[in-house]
Amino acid sequence: MTTRRKFIKQVSVASGGILLPAPDFRNIFSPIKQKVVIIGAGFSGLAAAYKLKNKNVDVTILESRNRIGGRVFSHKMTDDLVIELGGEWVGNSHERIHALCGEMNLELFNNQFNTHLLYKGDYSPAGAWDYSEGWNTKLNKMLEDYADLTDKEKLVMDKMDWWRYLVNNGCDGRDLDIRELLDSTDFGESIRQVSSFAAIAEYAESSENNEMDLKIKGGNGMLAERLSEKIGKEKILLKHTVSRIVQDSKVKVYCENGKVFEADKIICTIPTFAMQKIDWHPGLPSEKVDALNELQYARINKHAMLFNQRFWKDESFDMITDQSPHYFYHGTKNQKSGQGVLISYSVGEKAAVIANQTDAWNAKMINETLQPHFGNVASQLKNQVNYYWGNDSYSKGAYALYGKDQWFRVRPILEESFLHTHFAGEHLADWQGFMEGAINTGEAAADMI
Ligand SMILES: Cc1cc2nc3c(=O)[nH]c(=O)nc-3n(C[C@H](O)[C@H](O)[C@H](O)COP(=O)(O)OP(=O)(O)OC[C@H]3O[C@@H](n4cnc5c(N)ncnc54)[C@H](O)[C@@H]3O)c2cc1C
Repeated sequence: MTTRRKFIKQVSVASGGILLPAPDFRNIFSPIKQKVVIIGAGFSGLAAAYKLKNKNVDVTILESRNRIGGRVFSHKMTDDLVIELGGEWVGNSHERIHALCGEMNLELFNNQFNTHLLYKGDYSPAGAWDYSEGWNTKLNKMLEDYADLTDKEKLVMDKMDWWRYLVNNGCDGRDLDIRELLDSTDFGESIRQVSSFAAIAEYAESSENNEMDLKIKGGNGMLAERLSEKIGKEKILLKHTVSRIVQDSKVKVYCENGKVFEADKIICTIPTFAMQKIDWHPGLPSEKVDALNELQYARINKHAMLFNQRFWKDESFDMITDQSPHYFYHGTKNQKSGQGVLISYSVGEKAAVIANQTDAWNAKMINETLQPHFGNVASQLKNQVNYYWGNDSYSKGAYALYGKDQWFRVRPILEESFLHTHFAGEHLADWQGFMEGAINTGEAAADMI
C-alpha cells in the first residue's frame, strides 16, 4: 500500500519539490561547529534543536512569545487541574511523541472518550446512537478501499471537497449532518472546505479512535519543558520576533528587539501567516509567496469551564452537538479532584461568533444547551477561560486547512528549502495538524543540516 506519507515523498521528489541540501562536511572534518538559528519554539523547533544538539551543532532558538510550546498551550485551571488550550490528544500511532515521552520520563495517560450526541433537541448517550446501517457499511468499504487507491485516484480525490465526496457516495440526511459535525471538529472548519483526499487519508490511516487516545500527565507542555532542559534554556531566546532575514554566503537574522544573529543555516518552523510578515532578502520565490497566500488555517475556539462537581458523571464524557457550543469534552479526565473542567470546542463560523462574546454570554449559552439533559448547572460554574486561535497573533488559526487541490500542489512548494533555510512545522507534515507532525518535520529539517 502507498501510504499518505510515502506518497507525498514520491510526489515531492518527482515534481522536483524538495531541494536536497549540499552536503556540509565541516562537522566531520573540522572542530568548527555549524551554527543554526531555529525560528519558533513550538514542538517542531524544539524537536529540531534537540536533534541538532545531539549532533553537536550550535543552535539558537528565537521565539516571539514569552513562553515555549507554541500551539501546545497547557493551562492551570486550579493548582491540581491542567487543561489544554491548544494541542490535546496524542495518538496511538504517533511514534515520535511516544518515544520522546519515554526518553524524557513523561507518562502518557488514557484520554479516550465515549461520544454522546445532541441532535435536533434529542440527547442520546454514548453507545445509544449510530449512523444508519447502510452508511456504516458504505463508509467501512470506502476506508478499506483506500489501501488500493492508485496515485492518480488520490490526485483526483484531492480536487474534490470531503462534503461533496460523501454526498456522491450516498451519505445524506442525518448521516451527513453527523459526519459534518464530527469531521469539522477534526479539521476545524466545515467539511465543505476540506480536501477529500486529506480527509480519507486521515481516517483510513489513523488509530481506531482517530488518534484521540492519550495525553501527557501534567500537561502536553511538559514535553516542551523537558526538551528545553535538554537543549539548554539559555539557547532559547523568548520575546525575540524575527523580522528580517538576509541570506548570502551565510545568514543574518534580525529581530524586532534590535538583536542580530549570524548563522550558517536557518530552520524556520513558524506558521505561514508569521512567515509572510518577515522581510526576506532576497525575497521568497513568487510561487512560495502564492502558496503562503493560498493556505488557510482553521478557526478553533476553546471555552473551558471549571465546575465545582463533575455533573457529567462519566469520566470519559464527550458530546457532539448541532448547537453553538459544537463539541463538549471532559478536559480533566484522569486528574483527581472533586472539581472538573468541561471544554466547549467550536470550529469555523461558530468559533468566530463565540470568541466575540462575553463570559456571561457563553455561560448562558452553554447552560441552555446542557440544561434539558443535565439540569441547570449555572450555579456550579466557578471559572471560565477562553482562547480563540483564529485571532492568535502568530498563526491566525489552530492548524493548516488543506482545501480542494492543495494537498499535492501547495504543500510541496511550502516545503521547498530556500537558499540556507529549511522549513518545518505542522503545516508541512504527513501527520498534518498534529503535534507528531510538528516533531516529524522539525527532525527531518535537522537531518537536512
Ligand atoms: C485548538 C488546537 C487543538 C489542537 N488539537 C490537537 C490534538 O488534539 N492533537 C495534536 O496532535 N495536535 C493538535 N493540535 C495541533 C498542534 O498543537 C500543532 O500541530 C503543533 O503544536 C504545531 O507545532 P509547530 O511547532 O509546527 O508550530 P507552533 O507551535 O505554532 O510553533 C511555532 C512558533 O513560532 C513562533 N513564531 C512565530 N512567528 C515568529 C517569528 N517571527 N519569530 C520568532 N518566533 C515566531 C510562535 O510563537 C510559535 O511558538 C491542535 C492545535 C490547536 C491550536
